[in-house]
Amino acid sequence: MDSIAEIKSKIDIVDFIGEYIKLRPVGKNYQGLCPFHKDTHPSFYVSPDRQVWKCFGCNRAGDIFSFLQELEGIDFPEALRILAKRAGVNLQKFDKSTFDKRSTLIEICRLSAAFYHQIFLKSPIAEEARSYLEKRGLKESTIKEFCLGFAPDKWDTLFKFLIKRKYSPSDIEAAGLIIPGKKQGQYYDRFRGRIIFPIYNVYGEVIGFTGRILPGAEKKSAEQGKYINTPQTLIYNKSTVLYGINLAKSFIRQADSVVLVEGNMDVISSYQAGVKNVVCSSGTALTEEQIKLLSRYTHNVILAFDVDPAGVSATARSIDLMLAYGINLKIIRLPKGKDPDECIKENPSLWKKAVSESIEFIEYYFSLILKGKKIATLSSKKKAGEKILVLISKIKNSFERDLWLNKLADNLGVSVDSLRERLTEIMKSQKERKKEDEEEEIKEESSLEEEVAKKILALLIKEPKIAPKIVSLSLDILPTTDLRKIARVLKDVWEKEKKFNFKTISKQIQEERLINLIQIALLSVEKEYENFEFSDLEKEYGRLVNYLKKRYFETNIEEKELQLKDAEKNNDKEKIEILSRQIFELIKNSKKIKND
Ligand SMILES: [Zn+2]
Repeated sequence: MDSIAEIKSKIDIVDFIGEYIKLRPVGKNYQGLCPFHKDTHPSFYVSPDRQVWKCFGCNRAGDIFSFLQELEGIDFPEALRILAKRAGVNLQKFDKSTFDKRSTLIEICRLSAAFYHQIFLKSPIAEEARSYLEKRGLKESTIKEFCLGFAPDKWDTLFKFLIKRKYSPSDIEAAGLIIPGKKQGQYYDRFRGRIIFPIYNVYGEVIGFTGRILPGAEKKSAEQGKYINTPQTLIYNKSTVLYGINLAKSFIRQADSVVLVEGNMDVISSYQAGVKNVVCSSGTALTEEQIKLLSRYTHNVILAFDVDPAGVSATARSIDLMLAYGINLKIIRLPKGKDPDECIKENPSLWKKAVSESIEFIEYYFSLILKGKKIATLSSKKKAGEKILVLISKIKNSFERDLWLNKLADNLGVSVDSLRERLTEIMKSQKERKKEDEEEEIKEESSLEEEVAKKILALLIKEPKIAPKIVSLSLDILPTTDLRKIARVLKDVWEKEKKFNFKTISKQIQEERLINLIQIALLSVEKEYENFEFSDLEKEYGRLVNYLKKRYFETNIEEKELQLKDAEKNNDKEKIEILSRQIFELIKNSKKIKND
């Protein structure tokens, strides 16, 4: 078994895809909303028997590798690396250079995180850091779970440690852990005298770090900042990272919601307090990439920080983005001036309560914009009104919408009717935009002929009573080399054994890509002809073959006619004669195809 087949055999496709989208069983297969197009009724199918998936809406299809590639926008080697790790399959026999750089950097980060963590747990120089986190109320089990560490206040502790392990300075620098000094060949550690928070990707690999200065040293190194982060590297991009996602992802799916907090410490203490579906975008306002990442797990976001009502801040922009992505927002109301971490330190159960009592975003926003102050100027009235109307337009319940409209009319001192009119306009334009988006969806490029040919082959393989028809199937009518190759194998196996099935066929084919193609075709046929009787299937087979034959003759006749025109131009009498006869034959034969 090659590595790809081995990985596939060790990762169940339903479990794997089920981590990204909700799947429910339908017969032998599973069904869910397609993550690759705006899917309103579930058109995405996963077959556990065949270990493939296919969307009958946008026609995308594939295996676990292509699923991960499409979803993460990564290339095949990267998908292979991630899935091999998950399956516990050693890729050493693979072309190493493809993976080398990334895996070296990830290995360096993993080792460094472990190194800092050991220092934190055991070294006397980490005493201050330990007592600081203890004072902040962190338990040892939590510290271990988040692998918190300590970077000694020395110039090259980590550098020496990694050099001893035979890593090159250029790789360590590429991982963002050291900074070159003024002298040639001189390096110093990026993180010094800091508490270390390793940053993980969704797969639980360390890709970067945040370092927090010890409270006593805050003034001393004011010029360096309280927090420093790994710079952008090959494996770390701060705008796509969510701190805590590696631990939170399964809890997010369970709760179908995520609590978004401001800082790493908020994440850790919330997790410890039992609210585990929690992440933060360390140091930046939420980016579009992060919102996309989150919306893979849930569409319900609960914000646990102050939202600036001015509507110009970065936070306000990310809120607009989230609303545009169809995310339902709620807000946690905390005692004034407190962040979650402080709140939890006081009383963990208060935090749980605050999360469960989070209020709808519109309610919060409404009170924020309109509370207590009369909105005087016309333009500010209009602005506030528009924003709230957009939020109202997203409410599904019409009664609830009416309540908010009345409330808004009251507050702005305008008539409900005029607001309702504007709301209708907003909802109409939203509907149109949605329709445009849906129309823009491009189906995967695969011709109708190809789809038909795949179904023909799948019917032959699937239905033993149809299988004998392989003898009379002409390879010429199949539109691609891949499909002809598969049909060739069917013919060969049939000749020898007078029967075949998926197993015997795939043994002969061996090429993973083609086996995959057959699996997907089988899944399509199974779904499409679910309730067909044999006689219906036989008819369908005949219809499909006739379609391909017709197309074959049509394209051939077209081609010959073009050649004929050329020959006539050149007055090539012999060629005209031959071509005319060929065209006549083709037309005669095409007429023989039964019309039904
Ligand atoms: Zn789709």
